[in-house]
Amino acid sequence: MNEPSLYQAVRGHLATLRLAAAAEALPAVLDQARADSLGHTAMLERLLSIEVEATLARRRASLERFASLPAPWRLSDFDFEAQPAVDRALVSELGTLRFLEDATNVLFIGPPGVGKTMLAVGLARAAIEAGYRAYYTTAAELAARCHRAALEGRWATVMRFFAGPRLLVIDEAGYLPLPAEAAAALFQVISQRYLKGSVALTTNLGIASWGRIFDDPTVAAAMLDRLLHRSVVFNIDGDRYRMRTHRARAEHIRKGVVVRSSG
Ligand code: ADP
Ligand code: MG
Repeated sequence: MNEPSLYQAVRGHLATLRLAAAAEALPAVLDQARADSLGHTAMLERLLSIEVEATLARRRASLERFASLPAPWRLSDFDFEAQPAVDRALVSELGTLRFLEDATNVLFIGPPGVGKTMLAVGLARAAIEAGYRAYYTTAAELAARCHRAALEGRWATVMRFFAGPRLLVIDEAGYLPLPAEAAAALFQVISQRYLKGSVALTTNLGIASWGRIFDDPTVAAAMLDRLLHRSVVFNIDGDRYRMRTHRARAEHIRKGVVVRSSG
């Protein structure tokens, strides 16, 4: 084959293999290879790395869309100074994502505004960026979705869905008391993920009052057993974040006023 038909053949192969990024980059890479007198191996490496980069970017984008995170938060956005109740070393250990390997659960317990959702979302983002599948839902959404599925005869499908992601974030458990059916759905989701996939759960209820989420304290106890068996628990009893900054500012202003009035 002469050079132009070889070139056409290579483009054809790349197209057949659906290596669109490599196909598009081919002329530029060939020119570059000639200009830099690259060897065959170096040239192939350059071409394939373009395709790999594009594939990874597509995969990340698709993991990102799937995860439905409510905010772009990262663990590194968390202000640890403002929330001394949160163990920075523990968060950064979780950030290595080793906890996903043995399906460890992470519980964030505390009043509203202390950064529970932020940390859970930060973990999910770290997981996505490492190529894991993560999914965010609130407890109420999960219950509503399971309810619809039950009505439409898709219970098994919805259970498979919630079993799938490597990390499932269940936000705001306990904000609303769950009716028996919803509690059963949550219980089944937790049970089937037990020792298989991590759950990051946020709640405003201390562990002792978990019985209150459910009508049935036995279900509550069984679910807690599974959640806690292999888990990391953050009890965040600090101030609301916004209130804190606000209070710090107020304090600052007050001091300023005092200094001035005494000067
Ligand atoms: P929770 O889920 O505990 O109610 P959120 O995670 O939704 O609280 O946090 C409430 C708001 O305060 C969010 O805008 C969040 O980004 C911010 N926030 C809370 N804690 C921190 C923190 N330690 N550092 C930075 N932002 C924080
Ligand atoms: Mg929240």
